Amino acid sequence: MKPFDVKSFKKGKLAGVLGLGRSGQSVARLLVKKGYKVLGSDSRPKAELTPMLKTLPKAAKWEWNGHSDRLLKCAFVVKSPGLKPNLPVFKTLAHKGIPVYSELEIALAFSKAKAVVAITGTNGKSTTTQLTWEVFKAGLPRGRKALLAGNIGIPVSAVAPASKPTDVIVLECSSYQLEDSVHFEPRASALLNITADHLDHHGTMAAYLAAKAKVFREQGPGDACVFNADDPIVYKLSRECPSDRLYFGTKGINVHAWEEGGKLRFRLPRSKKEIALAPPKLPGRHNLENALAAGLLGLARGLKPSAIQKAFRAFKGVEHRLEPCGAVRGINCVNDSKATNVDSAVVALKAHAPGGKRLLLILGGLHKGFPYAPLKPWIERTVKGILTIGSASRRIEEDLSGLVPIFPCGTLETAVETGLKIGEKGDTLLLSPACASFDQFKDFEERGRRFKDLVGAAAKAR
Ligand code: ADP
Repeated sequence: MKPFDVKSFKKGKLAGVLGLGRSGQSVARLLVKKGYKVLGSDSRPKAELTPMLKTLPKAAKWEWNGHSDRLLKCAFVVKSPGLKPNLPVFKTLAHKGIPVYSELEIALAFSKAKAVVAITGTNGKSTTTQLTWEVFKAGLPRGRKALLAGNIGIPVSAVAPASKPTDVIVLECSSYQLEDSVHFEPRASALLNITADHLDHHGTMAAYLAAKAKVFREQGPGDACVFNADDPIVYKLSRECPSDRLYFGTKGINVHAWEEGGKLRFRLPRSKKEIALAPPKLPGRHNLENALAAGLLGLARGLKPSAIQKAFRAFKGVEHRLEPCGAVRGINCVNDSKATNVDSAVVALKAHAPGGKRLLLILGGLHKGFPYAPLKPWIERTVKGILTIGSASRRIEEDLSGLVPIFPCGTLETAVETGLKIGEKGDTLLLSPACASFDQFKDFEERGRRFKDLVGAAAKAR
């Protein structure tokens, strides 16, 4: 399939937008503005969509309860990243030769800013993207702006077309967005780590890897991609990268950024100078990795180390990621609602390992299909009690039985209440659920906010 080319698609043509979530609505607005006729299409019922779509321009028509043959009149279709590629509608569109693009690709085709810095990986994307944005905000000369967009919750189509040519767009890219992009050529990119996740969407690990590799696949000379040298899958994939490869990881021959003696150290290829920076004040080894990646991205684009240091100093982390949210009777409460898979919960436990066996861990939600056994060694080191919630409870209780006491709580309310009842001064009540949230909450943000509210209310009541 050819990349989306603004010039070959004339105004007045019909563009389809499949999936009318936040990015779908945003790209529909952009396409109307650019003179296209737009047909939105969504599987949800009319009553659910109507209040959401009130602000869509009149020129954007939309259909509900599924996708009709009207889509076959479209010159091209924009696919919402959440839609599975194996849906019958995509087969039909392919059969008719109608190209399907990501919102990312359309948005960047209309972007005035040409410099894109893109971050992907299974875990750590949002933290690294936010930190990289801070690094570029601090480091770009006056008059040039760093703009934040992508999977972080800001549609690229709402940001890129309004940018200036000298701006830099810092993008969080999910594998879904990358998968649907035919053309994507960031000036600098980062691949943080890869573990099996989202396989229900991609089908196979090979397809997941192919999607992730798009973050560097079309880069050229002068571009750079940052890789995690300690991640064997990432390291292997990096050999396919056509641009400059920059590695972070444990100090070694081919590593350009590492941690040593409490400092983050950087040495770019062909440079003799070593740069040492104090890391951001965030918990866990994983956040050092995120900062190494953000630092390398900044240095690769010529930013001054002093500006990167300033950004590291000011960075306070991202909401719902190992976020301290107060103490009740000396029990520290930490909201890690964003840990929606087993790997990120392991990361949270690792980050608490220096504290000993003081965790009351809230696990559960919607089961994602992976076993909980990888948590075992870290539970033995760090956890004194597990509180289960949501529909995954039974599976968690089966997988983790016999290690530490397990308290089946059902709801987050009961889990917080129980945790605070059985906890002692100096313990930590940690919500790092290792599951999706959709069985009991709208999303992980709602789950995290609810946790913080419950902790806040408990603190007040005492
Ligand atoms: P993403 O946007 O990829 O989901 P986030 O920055 O939102 O990543 O972090 C989500 C969770 O992933 C965090 O709560 C943490 O447990 C874990 N995590 C963060 N950074 C890393 C990393 N570099 N490696 C592994 N896990 C990480």
